[in-house]
Amino acid sequence: MIIPQVKNTEQNARAIFQRIVRSNTTPVIDLDEVLFCAKHRQTLYSKDDVWRGKCGPDQVGQLDLDKYRSKTTRDLVMRDKNLPLLGLVTLLNDAGIDYHVATARVGCTHTLELLKSRGVRPRVLICREGEHDSRKDNVLKADGIRKHFPPCLRSRMILIDDNLSNCNTLRDLGMQVLQITASDQLDIRDLI
Ligand SMILES: [Mg+2]
Repeated sequence: MIIPQVKNTEQNARAIFQRIVRSNTTPVIDLDEVLFCAKHRQTLYSKDDVWRGKCGPDQVGQLDLDKYRSKTTRDLVMRDKNLPLLGLVTLLNDAGIDYHVATARVGCTHTLELLKSRGVRPRVLICREGEHDSRKDNVLKADGIRKHFPPCLRSRMILIDDNLSNCNTLRDLGMQVLQITASDQLDIRDLI
């Protein structure tokens, strides 16, 4: 089955909101590449890193977790950029509609402060439970969904996430899913 894809634009924030209202579904929203851009804190392993013995060849293109952790300071986290779909959260807040957040981030004090300062107030926050929690994104999100929501509720919930394996895994748990793709409307300067 094909996963529906939607670009990260303000227009689509309004369209998703209307779909949520019409279908009476509860959104479960991812953070990175959906509400926020944290690329300024992310370094991916390169072929040079394999040569230097920092990672295996199969890790090229994956997140360098040590560097990411060293850049998870309050100052840098608070510089994460808003993406257009943050407008969906504003619409949900204004309408008094509940939503949840599912992120592969650690629920550290900096990210909690970021959410508060940008008006993101999830009823349930599914996140990585500390620095030693090394579960894959889709595993930790599936665990969180199973923990908080019985199967009978899931068909009325929709995952909004940029990661295809998260979409596939949570759809297998009975949820609706929407994959978010990068917007070509984004100004490159917003990503730096
Ligand atoms: Mg993401």
